[in-house]
Amino acid sequence: MPFPRNVRDEALLACKRYCCYCEKYSGLNMEVHHIIQEADGGSNTLDNAIPVCLNCHGTIGAYNSNHPKGTKYSSKELKKIRDEFYKKIKDIPRKADQKTEADEKLLVEFQDDFTETLEYIVDTDFSSELVDINLFDTLASLINKWTRKKYIFKLKQIENTKNDILISCSELQKYLTIEYLRLHETSGHLIFKNDSYEAGEKLREELRPETVRIRTQIKHLLEQLYIY
Ligand SMILES: [Zn+2]
Repeated sequence: MPFPRNVRDEALLACKRYCCYCEKYSGLNMEVHHIIQEADGGSNTLDNAIPVCLNCHGTIGAYNSNHPKGTKYSSKELKKIRDEFYKKIKDIPRKADQKTEADEKLLVEFQDDFTETLEYIVDTDFSSELVDINLFDTLASLINKWTRKKYIFKLKQIENTKNDILISCSELQKYLTIEYLRLHETSGHLIFKNDSYEAGEKLREELRPETVRIRTQIKHLLEQLYIY
């Protein structure tokens, strides 16, 4: 009797369809092997299952006990091999989720384009500090470039992070306008427009909480950008 569907699924998810024995990615060519054969009292549980490729299934399964040659893999040995492999593969992306060479190149370009600007945003308190007068235009040209067709990542996770960054940047742009900021004559920077009671209200109710929220968002996204 083969393993029940849910046990097979769990085992194949745990190994991400890499063979636990030879550690090769094997896609469809995977089988879930009974570590202790059912005839010998082995159960249909996850603990008794080791997902392996077709080749290795032969190696670890084929053994004629009537004509013993060599040394058979013991159940203890196979469980240890499997458990160590499950642990090793846990933090590695599934094969289908790995980035291509094209994505890798694009990611480096994206990091080069954005890192300095995003770090500046994270470090700047837009409700009290001087703000780079060119920030609005810098963001506009970055957004414009990275929404073009040739700048799409194939790996969904990176594309999502990219889009989240673009959205956060365009959200921030709203607070870099003359509605909130004015020219600080002596420095050539922008600073919060505090010329009226209404402006003060805008600062407390919108500019400060919203820019803090966006900066927190961007800090998190910037960390994500360097995980891939
Ligand atoms: Zn194998």
